[in-house]
Amino acid sequence: TGALNAAVDGSDKLNAYAHKTPEIAEAQARAADERIKAGDAPDLCGIPLGIKDLFCTENTPSQAASRILDGFRPPYESTVTTQLFRDGAVMLGKLNMDEFAMGSSNETSAYGAAVNPWQADDGVALTPGGSSGGSAAAVAADLCLGATGTDTGGSIRQPAAFTGITGIKPTYGRCSRFGIIAFASSLDQAGPMTRDVRDAAIMLRAMSGHDPKDSTSADIAVPDFEAMLTGDIRGKVIGIPREYHVDGMPTEIETLWTRGTEMLRDAGALIRDISLPHTKYALPAYYVIAPAEASSNLARYDGVRFGHRAKLAQGDGITEMYEKTRAEGFGSEVQRRIMVGTYVLSAGFYDAYYNRARKVRTLIKRDFDQVFAEGVDAILTPATPSSAFGLGAMKDADPVQMYLNDVFTVTVNLAGLPGISVPAGLDHKGLPLGLQLIGRPWEEGDLLNTAYALE
Ligand code: GLN
Repeated sequence: TGALNAAVDGSDKLNAYAHKTPEIAEAQARAADERIKAGDAPDLCGIPLGIKDLFCTENTPSQAASRILDGFRPPYESTVTTQLFRDGAVMLGKLNMDEFAMGSSNETSAYGAAVNPWQADDGVALTPGGSSGGSAAAVAADLCLGATGTDTGGSIRQPAAFTGITGIKPTYGRCSRFGIIAFASSLDQAGPMTRDVRDAAIMLRAMSGHDPKDSTSADIAVPDFEAMLTGDIRGKVIGIPREYHVDGMPTEIETLWTRGTEMLRDAGALIRDISLPHTKYALPAYYVIAPAEASSNLARYDGVRFGHRAKLAQGDGITEMYEKTRAEGFGSEVQRRIMVGTYVLSAGFYDAYYNRARKVRTLIKRDFDQVFAEGVDAILTPATPSSAFGLGAMKDADPVQMYLNDVFTVTVNLAGLPGISVPAGLDHKGLPLGLQLIGRPWEEGDLLNTAYALE
């Protein structure tokens, strides 16, 4: 059976870190020592973390794994990293990811793909998933104790599932997006990726809270999530949505899902079959809305304000400057998203695609509202329709093949809900699989506690 390849010594083979930051780590570790000596040590004091390259870190390369942000060193720090450092965390470096967080395998990165530390018997190198693939690989291989991720359509939960770790996407608005390079602003959320649920609870608390610098950040109290981990889920109602039994899903994932259901029942939860009837429209709606927002967010990379600018020929004007810069700076998946996004927003197609997708989004949200109103506390599903696939396996496939990987995760972002992926066992190749729990808005504490009962 496959096993965590502990022999993978150091980060270089996994390509998990895009930039290591030893000077910052040393300074922060010394400061943490002082705080510990002074008896003022918050939870994260001295804890070594990796930070996804999508987060702006002051004077430190932050380029969303894109060539277009070559050389960009933000003059400011994201709110989430500010809060982690306030609580004493130590940054080891910036973690690899898919370019602008677009992808499910880390292969769209300008740094090259990160590699999954897990291997199947055949020795084929596997994807750690994406877009937070570097974060997942680093945590799974003990190259940091925890990492930040971001999740627009599954980018925390899918890589967590592929690498046997825990990852939570909180309720939209729980963590400030200030200083996180935007992909699709109405879907993006930061969250922790950790070895277990307790670490996720500790890290999420530090990352959360209202921020006046992000108008979509919610002014809602942040509870002590760790204190809520009692493991007592007696009487909780767990919904099993029938629409998540998708065609072609391996039977071992169905089996795992059943086993998870039984574990929760044994712990005293009440299991209920539920229906989320608009689930089948989630993937198409997501792949309209996310590119639409991305095409708008990415308009700022014009060769003037940030990062890369193409070399120009004699006589080139501003149009050539934009065109050459963007053609060189953006990889092919990012270009595809910009083209899809501008198409669905164009005057002739706006109603047919973008507006339609927004309406579908509302229906998907209502499906969840309905089951929660009927007393369901959390929903259990598989996190992904497969275990980690081989690097390069999708190279010649239709891009839609890759998008299908997100079938269980995008609904949660469209509805703005919290979702967590927890390791749930191994498949026949010895590779990790994850189960997803979806919770009510702002009830991450309960969600973490239910996940804790599954652990
Ligand atoms: N795989 C999805 C996409 O490519 C989700 C990415 C994400 O959550 N950032 O859009």
